Amino acid sequence: MVKLFLKKREFLMLKRFIISGFILFTVLSTELFSQTKLVVGIVVDQMRYDYLTRFEKVYGEGGFKRLMNEGTDFTYAHFNYMPTVTAVGHSSVYTGTIPYYHGIIGNEWFDRKLNRDVYCTEDTTESTIGAEGNEGKMSPRHLLSNTITDQLKLFSSGHSKVISICIKDRGAILPGGHSADAAYWYSYNTGKFISSSYYCKALPSWVDKFNNRKLPDQYMAGDWSLSLPADKYDMSSADGVSWEPDMFNEGKNTFPHSFKNIKPEYKYSNLVYTPYGNQLLLELAKETIVNENMGKGKYIDFLAMSFSSTDYVGHAYGPSSVELEDTYIKLDKQIAELLSFLDQKVGKGKYILFLTADHGGSEAHGYLKSIKQPSGEVDRAAVMDSLSKLLTANFKTDGLIKGYSDNQVFLNYDVIKNNNLNRAQVENYSADFLGGIQGIKNVYTRTELLKQQPDRLKKSFVLNGFNNKRSGDVIYEFASGYHEVTGNTATHNTSHSYDTHVPMLFYGNGIPAKKVKDLVFITDIAPTVANLIGITEPRDCFGIPLLP
Ligand code: ZN
Ligand code: ZN
Repeated sequence: MVKLFLKKREFLMLKRFIISGFILFTVLSTELFSQTKLVVGIVVDQMRYDYLTRFEKVYGEGGFKRLMNEGTDFTYAHFNYMPTVTAVGHSSVYTGTIPYYHGIIGNEWFDRKLNRDVYCTEDTTESTIGAEGNEGKMSPRHLLSNTITDQLKLFSSGHSKVISICIKDRGAILPGGHSADAAYWYSYNTGKFISSSYYCKALPSWVDKFNNRKLPDQYMAGDWSLSLPADKYDMSSADGVSWEPDMFNEGKNTFPHSFKNIKPEYKYSNLVYTPYGNQLLLELAKETIVNENMGKGKYIDFLAMSFSSTDYVGHAYGPSSVELEDTYIKLDKQIAELLSFLDQKVGKGKYILFLTADHGGSEAHGYLKSIKQPSGEVDRAAVMDSLSKLLTANFKTDGLIKGYSDNQVFLNYDVIKNNNLNRAQVENYSADFLGGIQGIKNVYTRTELLKQQPDRLKKSFVLNGFNNKRSGDVIYEFASGYHEVTGNTATHNTSHSYDTHVPMLFYGNGIPAKKVKDLVFITDIAPTVANLIGITEPRDCFGIPLLP
């Protein structure tokens, strides 16, 4: 009996131990979970994955390397649609879905009803706040899906604060989603941060105060010198190669860059072609965190920020330039400063952060040519002119092309109908012609795309970027190494690895330090963040959560 009693007592104690342990675990994990007070989303415009590894030895310990070593580093993250451009990238990161659903099919696209190009965030019903002119006549109304930031607003009944900032308007507006408290972007005319009447009637006084510091004037009164001795830049081609332009009217294209000869009217628009554009955004981010008490309330807040100067420098000088490498060395320091600031103001372990890009970037055409790698340019205007003439000759009618934008041709349905033509026949004829052009790899028609279903994997790359309501009728894909003639030294928008392979780093509260080498996609970011903070993923989400 005694033996049995003890056994029963032991059993009860064990039971109590297990229950109290379970309660403790639940309390602790809830505590851990609830510690996240702020999500910071960072998009680095045109950042290729290999900028993390190529420049690793010139980076410090507190910036990119801190994220790579102390967070989860997805080394094989790709875009899963085309075109890989800014508006589409920002939309896809924050909606967790593809243009097929979110509808942002380019930075601008031809609109059949308006019979003109529309800009992704243009909105003539709104007005500019903080400056004169049209730079603030913007809204997210073209975005058809909601974002992770919108979901946070729904989750907290509007209590969470969502603020989005960027040099580019589209890089601020699209990540903020439809319900952002504020979005601020840079006025290329005035050097000030502005907004739209969609968000506010006037700028908050702290933004006015920030603008009145006139940081762009200070920056442009200086110069752009290298951060390290010139011989440390051995991962880049020589400074001042023939395909690099004289951006600042200096009479040369080498370091140090002087801004003295820039015409006053171009001072503020030229700033974005220097690392100072990123510095300016960092300063605004710090002011936003302090003045808006981000991460200090009862609810989780979200700061979306995108660095744009990396894209401008990439276009102007190309990925192999000393200018590009120096921009990343400086950005690494800026990221380190941001992380220390977050540790201090929000608290270590009280924020989570992701860093990714809106697309990658191709090597400079001049550089590829110089090292004998296949490359070339396609003159779109000339190709469209030839196509138009051939269509006229073959179908015995004028005006079959209504418009074109990016890699798409929009056919004129009225002309097709009035001449009793078959739409698919006109599509196929156009596709046959375009497929024969040097530099164009594959051509797809609306009729065949509509028969297929999009897929998270890369196999339906063109379809994923296609939107039934907005896209054209014939869509072509460039061969690798080829892009459109743009006037830039280098560009992006293709389906090839240099444009699709980007960094994907998660860091902060509860995120393990590890490297993951599996193939993952950009549309996985939003569901991963949603899962980490315990909210529902965006409504058209196409990705999967990657972290437990
Ligand atoms: Zn971009
Ligand atoms: Zn770009």
